This record gives sequence, C-alpha cells and structure tokens, in this order.
Amino acid sequence: MRPVLADVLAAARVIAGLADATPLVPSPYMSGVAGQDFLLKLENMQPIGAFKLRGALNAVAGLGEAAGVTCCSTGNHGRGVAYAARARGLRAVVCMSELVPRAKVEGIRALGAEVRIVGRSQDDAQAEAARLVAEEGLVEIPPFDDARVIAGQGTIGLEIMAARPDIEVLLVPLSGGGLAAGVALAAKAIKPSVRVVGISMDRGAAMHESLRAGRPVAVEEVASLADSLGGGIGMGNRLSFPMCRDLLDEVVLVTEAEIYRAMQVLYYEDRIVAEGACVVGLAAVLAGKVSVGGPTATIITGRNLDMEMFTRIITGQDVVLGDMVIEGRRYGT
Ligand SMILES: *Cc1c(COP(=O)(O)O)cnc(C)c1O
Repeated sequence: MRPVLADVLAAARVIAGLADATPLVPSPYMSGVAGQDFLLKLENMQPIGAFKLRGALNAVAGLGEAAGVTCCSTGNHGRGVAYAARARGLRAVVCMSELVPRAKVEGIRALGAEVRIVGRSQDDAQAEAARLVAEEGLVEIPPFDDARVIAGQGTIGLEIMAARPDIEVLLVPLSGGGLAAGVALAAKAIKPSVRVVGISMDRGAAMHESLRAGRPVAVEEVASLADSLGGGIGMGNRLSFPMCRDLLDEVVLVTEAEIYRAMQVLYYEDRIVAEGACVVGLAAVLAGKVSVGGPTATIITGRNLDMEMFTRIITGQDVVLGDMVIEGRRYGT
C-alpha cells in the first residue's frame, strides 16, 4: 500500500530523538549562483552519516520479535539497518557488491552487523539477501521499495517544509527513489505547488530510464562519484517507481565532471565534506540544467565517502572510475 501523509507523520514520531532535526542551513555561494535562497538539509550530520537511518528505524519499529534483519545495500542503507537493528537488539546481516567502497564496508562492521560481499552488482547482493530470508528466516528491510522506508525518508520533507514554508523547489538525489518518493509525498501534501526535481548521474540512472520507458528497466551498473546513486530499482518495483512517476515534476541528469566540480564547491564554499551523491542538486544548478524559480532546498544526503578519493578531488587531481578518467582541475582555476 502506498504511504500517505499520516504514515510520514507517524514515522516522525518513531524517529524522534534518534534521527530527526538535522540542520537546514543557507549556502550563500549557491544562493548567489541560483539567484534565490538556496538551503542545504544536512543529513550528513546523522549518527550514521546519512539519512537512511530514518527509513530503517521506521521499518524496524514495525517488526515483532524477529530472528534478525537483512538487507542488500550500496552502503548507507546497510549502515542504517545495522544501526536500527542494534538499537532494537536484533541481529543484522548486510549484503553488498564488490563495487562498494571499503570505507562503507568497515563502517557497517563497526556498527556490529555481519557483512556479506557477493558478486559485482546490486542484483547479486539482492539474491544473497533473498537466500537469508528463505533459509535463515531473517526479515529483509528493502532499501527503497517499502512503504515504511519511504515514510521514514519522507520525514525530511516534513522538516524542510516546517522550517521553511516558503520553499518552492526541492532538489532530491535520486536512485531507487525511496527518498524522492517520501520527500515529494510529504512536501506536496503540505504544499501542493512545491516542485520536486529528482537528480541522478547520467550513467546508470535506473529510475530515469524506467520513467522514460514507463516501467522498471534494468541498467548497466557503472562506477560513479555518486556511488550511492548506483543500482537498479528492482524489476518488480511496486511503490517507489509509481510514486516517483506521479510525484516528481522532473528528473535531471548530471555528468561525472559536474559532480566532481560540485564536490569542490560544497567543500570550498560551504566547508562541507559530503559524498558525490549529495551534490547532484548543486551540480544541476551550477550546470544550468535546472531552473529554480523560488527558494530552493537540496538534501546533503550523506558523508560516507572514500577519503582518498575525496582528497584527490579537492586537490584537483584526476580520478579514475572504472574505464573513465575524470580530468582533474584545481578549484578556482
Ligand atoms: C540511498 C542514498 C540516496 C538515494 O536514495 P534513494 O531512496 O535510493 O533514491 C542518495 N544519497 C545517499 C547518500 C544515499 O545513501
């Protein structure tokens, strides 16, 4: 069943005191670029360094005395589930592909979860999670296609609109669409005129391709600076796909070079360390790919990145991603 505003309000009560109330701060530099107030919702400040804690806490709160939970994750959902399970005293097994950066794997182990690294794609990790459900009786917490997860992520939309009712545009990083679906649901229920724009990288943007095709389609998974936005939306997607189809006003794609540049901007102008996935909203505005006709907010979704890679970017060095080289450029040159 599709979540509604009441589910998001209920989720807000579940996560209160654990994962709510991150700061919403102005970016003077981006406000100048956009010609509008431009605000950053700092989900990188969450205890696990990403917003996924919201959905995971809400999903785990709905379970009885389960044997434990499992999930398949590019990283931050795994952290969220690990944290939420530990808070409830449940066993957690997190399945992920070899493409996931080491920093994320270690972060999850540090939260007390078991990690299973399987195959080269999200689909391989998904198969292992399904096996754990069938053979070991664990309960799977899906990363995005789940009513409780979507309602949990939607609490971000509630907080933004409560803090700044004048917001006209929300720029939301888009992967499986749990975040975008929840935020759009909450924000539009409160203020129907809000424009919600989903933003993905231009290679391997599964939701974008699916929306164009009118049904979930598989895309090839490729390495990206926005690694948290990789992976498919699930061929059997029931909720996040139709919700994104119905609630998003537009989807915009940004290049790896634009993401590289936006990571430098967020670091040098706002002094924020954040993943490539977080800066796609800035990247789209900096590249002139999205027009903002009023006060705008974007979600800085997480900070769990490979610091070696981040150091290369902020010092203007080349970055190699699979078969692609992003040419380095020092900020301000
Ligand atoms: C999961 C995630 C996203 C995208 O969320 P979806 O619900 O899959 O669209 C964006 N940024 C970060 C840092 C994430 O971990």
